[in-house]
Amino acid sequence: MVSKVNGIVIKETDVGETGKRIMIITREHGKMLLSVRGAKNAKSKTMAGTQLFSYSEFSLFEGKGFYSATQADVIESFYGIRSDIDRLAYGAYILELTERTAFEDLEDIGMFELLLRTLLVLSKDSMDSINPQMIAAVFIIRLLKESGFIGELYGCQKCGNEFLNEAYLSNDGFELICCDCAKGNETYVGSGTLKAVNYIIGCRMPAIYKFNVSDEVLKQLWIFADSLRREYLGDGYKTLDYIRNMKFSY
Ligand SMILES: [Zn+2]
Repeated sequence: MVSKVNGIVIKETDVGETGKRIMIITREHGKMLLSVRGAKNAKSKTMAGTQLFSYSEFSLFEGKGFYSATQADVIESFYGIRSDIDRLAYGAYILELTERTAFEDLEDIGMFELLLRTLLVLSKDSMDSINPQMIAAVFIIRLLKESGFIGELYGCQKCGNEFLNEAYLSNDGFELICCDCAKGNETYVGSGTLKAVNYIIGCRMPAIYKFNVSDEVLKQLWIFADSLRREYLGDGYKTLDYIRNMKFSY
């Protein structure tokens, strides 16, 4: 049976000389593993559309227990991501996070729309007011919301009191607590960061990257997103190790 599906390539693995297996994420079916024969032949109908980051329309052949892509027409290549090592590094991390978090055979419109919007922003020509680390931090926080791990954070997660101006990130790394509950050695989270986190969690998806923060807030946002990532999504991300090893690492 032949069918069509639109998806974004989030992982690729070589198979033999010219073939590969790709993982795509779709609105309707979550993650799907596809085998692609001859994807690395220059004349192949699948070469461009099955590259990492590509958003394509795939023609699928359903075999016994597997799908293969017989054609892949590029809808959006996100070329701009590949033109800059910083964007590429954070983009690869965003794909790995998606791959580890998404499920197979499960409609997930929220996660798909988040990834699509994120890659669009990351590939834009003008990157004056936004940076790839910021995009990754926003992506992680919203990904945790779309996956049901976190909701808006208006009060202390220990005593329930509303945050006035500031909060602290608990030492186990994933609770936001008030100054009364903090013992003094926790990570400070200022009001700007609190506001940004609640904006990221609560805003409509199309507006998610439409805000700016100071360098100080960005630093806190990254620490916050990274602690939550470790707590809910685990460790062992090759792409994150790569970012940490880059010479301009933060
Ligand atoms: Zn408290």
